[in-house]
Amino acid sequence: MEGMICKLSRSLSRAAPLLGRSIHSVRPTSTAATKHRTEHPLSSEEVYAREEKYGAHNYHPLPVALEKGEGIYVWDVDGNRYYDFLSAYSAVNQGHCHPKIIAALNAQASKLTLTSRAFYNDVLGTYEEYITSMFGYNKVLPMNTGVEACETACKLARKWAYNVKGVPKNQAKIIFADGNFWGRTMAAISSSTDPSSYEGFGPFMPGFQNVPYNDIPSLEKALQDQNVAAFMVEPIQGEAGVVVPDQGYLTKVRELCTKHNVLWIADEVQTGLARTGRRLAVDHEEVRPDLVILGKALSGGVYPVSAVLCDDEVMLTIKPGEHGSTYGGNPLACRVAIAALEVMEEERLAENAERMGKLLRSELRKLPKDIVTVVRGKGLLNAIVIKETKDYDAWRVCLRLRDNGLLAKPTHGDIIRLAPPLIIREQAVLECVDIIHKSITSF
Ligand code: PLP
Repeated sequence: MEGMICKLSRSLSRAAPLLGRSIHSVRPTSTAATKHRTEHPLSSEEVYAREEKYGAHNYHPLPVALEKGEGIYVWDVDGNRYYDFLSAYSAVNQGHCHPKIIAALNAQASKLTLTSRAFYNDVLGTYEEYITSMFGYNKVLPMNTGVEACETACKLARKWAYNVKGVPKNQAKIIFADGNFWGRTMAAISSSTDPSSYEGFGPFMPGFQNVPYNDIPSLEKALQDQNVAAFMVEPIQGEAGVVVPDQGYLTKVRELCTKHNVLWIADEVQTGLARTGRRLAVDHEEVRPDLVILGKALSGGVYPVSAVLCDDEVMLTIKPGEHGSTYGGNPLACRVAIAALEVMEEERLAENAERMGKLLRSELRKLPKDIVTVVRGKGLLNAIVIKETKDYDAWRVCLRLRDNGLLAKPTHGDIIRLAPPLIIREQAVLECVDIIHKSITSF
């Protein structure tokens, strides 16, 4: 009888999901997974299959299985070399595995990596002094990923609105631009206008409002509201497909935010750190946001490091215990970030991005206009728009580019972002344009 009950309960627990019971009551065994861990070099197909089977399906990667990177190149598991024209979404501005950044990582990794902010560490202050003097702000708040830094900026803006501007409790508003992208957290998707970001994840963060990008009259109208704390905007919208606003837009944003006593937050997570041909993209118009958010290339792609920069009036509204992160400001991250910033300066990455970007765009503009309808960008943050036909689209163009030795990824269907590491030189740019030409005309 006891045996029967056991058997019954075992079969019931196996059937639980089917019966609509909690899926949490079923714990699959892990022996099969552990057995299959890499014991031999994997083929590309095996790499794809393993991720497909054991990983969440929240990405749709281009089929190429990478195992090594150096400078402007990456290699797949079969030893094929590619130009990297995505640069990990602009995290690898300094090039893959930059020796100076890796050396900083290794040296600090064997000394002290993480203490938490419960104690002081001897690197954080060095980093804080370095980054704040480089960008000309009183203070920095270190975080890890880009989205955390963006979220931090929103929290700072709300605190400032209540403590300094005098907005009534819980009434603060933050304005965003349509087409924005700042990550995947609940707050980030609450400001998104892209259904693939927000659909199915509600309810959303209150106090967020959108205006069209690159539209000054709409912004001015929104800023009439006394409860607006901040306007957060990318100087060039990266994920939206490298959307470059009109010359003068950022200057007008600065003027309006000052006039209406609203903080201007520049999300430079993708555009910052030399990517667009200046240290910051806002430098093209020589304007100074109240808050600047950095991430991605702040570590040269070796470690998640992000930061919010602003002055005391805003930063000191957050008091001890009101915000933080276990890893934020750890000595390893700080050493890596110092090295990444030094590389940006020593190798004059902004100047190179400016020159190579001009060359790249002028060459891309020679591509057949019936296929490549638009070429746009600044520095080395560029995009081409592909005219889709039944024979080809941006995805198929990217597959062909891969076959010819260049990696890029489509965004929003018909747009291909072209953003190589900023250390790329003229000869390589011209070779890449040849690959793009050959790939596009091969259809
Ligand atoms: N902000 C911008 C402009 C971005 O492009 C991104 C990521 O692509 C983020 C924020 C989020 O950064 P992360 O993915 O490191 O959280």
